[in-house]
Amino acid sequence: MNDFDITIIGGGIVGLATAMYAQNKYPKKSIAVFEKESSLAKHQTGNNSGVIHAGIYYQPDSQKAKFCWPGSLLLRKFCDEHNIEYELCGKLIVASDESEINSLDNLFERGKNNGVNGLQLVDESKINEIEPYVRGVKGLWSPNTGIVDYIKLTEAYAKIFQSKDGQIYKNTKLLNILSGTTNLILETNKGDFSAKYLINCAGLHADRIAQMMKLDTDVRIVPFRGEYFTLTDDAKKMVNGLIYPVPDPDLPFLGVHFTKRINNEVEAGPNAVMAYSREGYKKFDINPSDLFESFTYLGFWKMVKNNWKTGLSEQYRSLNKFKFVQSLQKLIPEIKSKHLTNPGAGVRAQAIDKNGKLLQDFSIIHSSNSLHILSAPSPGATSSLKIAEHLMSELNI
Ligand SMILES: Cc1cc2nc3c(=O)[nH]c(=O)nc-3n(C[C@H](O)[C@H](O)[C@H](O)COP(=O)(O)OP(=O)(O)OC[C@H]3O[C@@H](n4cnc5c(N)ncnc54)[C@H](O)[C@@H]3O)c2cc1C
Repeated sequence: MNDFDITIIGGGIVGLATAMYAQNKYPKKSIAVFEKESSLAKHQTGNNSGVIHAGIYYQPDSQKAKFCWPGSLLLRKFCDEHNIEYELCGKLIVASDESEINSLDNLFERGKNNGVNGLQLVDESKINEIEPYVRGVKGLWSPNTGIVDYIKLTEAYAKIFQSKDGQIYKNTKLLNILSGTTNLILETNKGDFSAKYLINCAGLHADRIAQMMKLDTDVRIVPFRGEYFTLTDDAKKMVNGLIYPVPDPDLPFLGVHFTKRINNEVEAGPNAVMAYSREGYKKFDINPSDLFESFTYLGFWKMVKNNWKTGLSEQYRSLNKFKFVQSLQKLIPEIKSKHLTNPGAGVRAQAIDKNGKLLQDFSIIHSSNSLHILSAPSPGATSSLKIAEHLMSELNI
């Protein structure tokens, strides 16, 4: 049986950043990553919006606030050093009418307190200069928000890890964990392995890995699909960078927006609707056991009770393209249904607790021989190096 000092479950951006940092900290230890898919970054990392967030939105004192801005700087430095293309195209958050100005001003203060450099409140004429097709009464301009290809970044982390003897086992799904006398026995579809220490970076399945370790976490992952469209070539000229509405402060999602991608496409969306499968990228993908798990968790029903109005309106917008277009027209009035093509989706791992509360922050827990990233929502990709740095500061083996 192969024996490792540290085994990391999950070949997404957080898993690979962690693997790379673990190897720097423990160059003599044997370290492996298990990924159930045939390639890295297949799930959240490979289906995300590709934004290098600056860190404007996050509650002061949250880990998101602490990790995002420094994480974005670490990430940009890594890209510079390893020749990975990124672009600081900037982001404009737009107050569409007077009623949103107060929230926009609060965001400006919060962003500054979170250490984000370069933020500016802008008036209508400056909005026009930055994004000529956008209509709004006031804007918050973040010139240090950017875009990147997170699959390429994950692959770059992996290459460095492997070049220093790190092992990546693809097509290797962790099925169960048993406690041996000194080690953990990891049962996988490729046979048994043993490990002294386990780090759980399994994204949409992180709660299940924690349960395999018999940890009583009281947190479950509920999958939410974020659906988007791509703008047609003639509509792309209406967007220079990233254009967002003022978000609802009570929800972890940012509202439908326009996102320039590093491949020069522009996406419009995403909304946030409950998915019926943890890896359900199509509207009607259903996984009965995922659904059963959600429906038998009391926290799920409490979440439904607290958020049913927003949930219904997001579902309605998911089924009604006209409504989707209306939300986008709030930012760019000239956008029409004919400009939206190639629908796609990503699935977010939304952690909820037993009281139905949507966990907004990163959530990391420990046991004597394991560390679990139970929740790494956006800006998890931006913060990946900072999350890995933090995990290493907690790890003492
Ligand atoms: C729609 C969407 C848009 C987003 N936009 C942004 C953005 O613009 N900027 C940003 O910073 N963040 C964004 N995020 C958040 C970001 O993508 C995540 O924080 C980040 O990708 C989390 O990485 P991860 O490695 O934890 O998870 P994942 O990328 O999901 O990786 C987990 C991996 O674990 C593997 N795995 C699971 N179970 C097992 C098992 N039993 N055995 C072996 N392997 C297993 C999975 O196959 C998967 O590859 C977005 C997320 C979504 C969904």
